[in-house]
Amino acid sequence: MAKDIVLRNVRLIDGIADQARDNVSIVISGDRIKAITTDGGPSGPNVEVIDLAGKTVMPGLIDTHVHSTLVSDIDLSLFLATGVTTARDVGGRLDKVLTLRERLSKGEVLGPRLFVCGPLLDGGHKTFPDGAFGEILDTVTSVEAAPGKINSLLDAGVDGIKLYFGMTPDIMEACLNTVDKQVPVTGHIGATTAIEAIKLGIDGLEHMWISPYNNICPVEMRFGPEMSMMSSRFPKVTFQGWEEADLQGPGAQELFNLMAEKQVKMGTTLDLLWVDNIGIEEALKDTDRIYIPESGLAHQRSLAKVVKAGEEWDIHTGYPPGNGKKALEKQKEAVRILHDKGGVIVGGTDCCGIAYPPPGFALWREAELLADAIGDMAALKAITASAASALRKEDELGTIKPGCYADILVLEKDPSEDVKNLRSLERVFRSGVEYDPKGLLAAYPARDFDNLGMAS
Ligand SMILES: [Zn+2]
Repeated sequence: MAKDIVLRNVRLIDGIADQARDNVSIVISGDRIKAITTDGGPSGPNVEVIDLAGKTVMPGLIDTHVHSTLVSDIDLSLFLATGVTTARDVGGRLDKVLTLRERLSKGEVLGPRLFVCGPLLDGGHKTFPDGAFGEILDTVTSVEAAPGKINSLLDAGVDGIKLYFGMTPDIMEACLNTVDKQVPVTGHIGATTAIEAIKLGIDGLEHMWISPYNNICPVEMRFGPEMSMMSSRFPKVTFQGWEEADLQGPGAQELFNLMAEKQVKMGTTLDLLWVDNIGIEEALKDTDRIYIPESGLAHQRSLAKVVKAGEEWDIHTGYPPGNGKKALEKQKEAVRILHDKGGVIVGGTDCCGIAYPPPGFALWREAELLADAIGDMAALKAITASAASALRKEDELGTIKPGCYADILVLEKDPSEDVKNLRSLERVFRSGVEYDPKGLLAAYPARDFDNLGMAS
């Protein structure tokens, strides 16, 4: 039998408490956390003691919004290399996500523990483009079609359901009634407002930018059924709508109050506007850029063509960079207001679907943007314990306590003092198995950008 492992004398961020605790020891037995002690823990021939005095330990990170089948196997190692031990795929072709979940769980692919939803479910009669973005979409054509579609996904063993932009309230109601709380349902919604969706019983909302938009923007700026996510008008209209939004107005306040009351999970994906936050010039100097997956970059370029946005750059998400800065500031303010009301803030990134920031690194960016809004420790909870609650796995993941999976990060510096310290990651445990983040990054076929002066 494998020896128990003791991580001795650490500073512990457990994912729940508001303060880190010093001089704590953690006992790992197999794939689980066995005990947390302040007496140094067991020693002797049957335990491996790792003295970590001066180091900080926290739960493995959880990215609740990825599209894992749009990148190659090797790209999934970036999650582990950045401490993301769990990810939720919120849109992928059913057979592909199920196969990938199994291969990851067997260790055939190096990467996070994966939860899957199957395809994004739009509503009504739709046709989808060929290629990567088309294959992750499906539609529930009518109210009558909802039970068949939903039950086929549940029977296949999905961990959740993801509803999409064009689904109207009648079809959404039929879908939610069929799910009947068996798995969590989240939505990247538009044709149904967030308030309507919550009243129908949805568990989570994706993208602060998009799902709450129609309840928050000025009435005359709402998008209707004619608005497409694939339109170059989409960011233009919504950025302006965010700039002009009244977050203290009745629509926004009703939404935030309802979200807090029902504990609806707000998956933030603020990183979608990360480039806008610092501007394209600065973004082009970003050192994480060498980890952009080749496949992600190819998708990025094809998406840019669909929205007729040109092909300027790998880092560019298909809309004029720079325009979204004010919108992002407003979205951060919305996160803060919701958090202050007791709402559940959940970190997610949309990585792999859109090329930048790269897998794993995207969640570090998300944490930085969240920390601006709600502070460092709350940002860490959003990517650990709160994220686990969005998966309904709070008893097993996102927290360091006895009985949970031994998904544990060891850091040189304390990220609750500054979330940028997530970059001081030294060791990653997933299910009690240790990985070396620097080794994983060194093994990754990083891109060679001349202007970064880095060899691949
Ligand atoms: Zn997405």
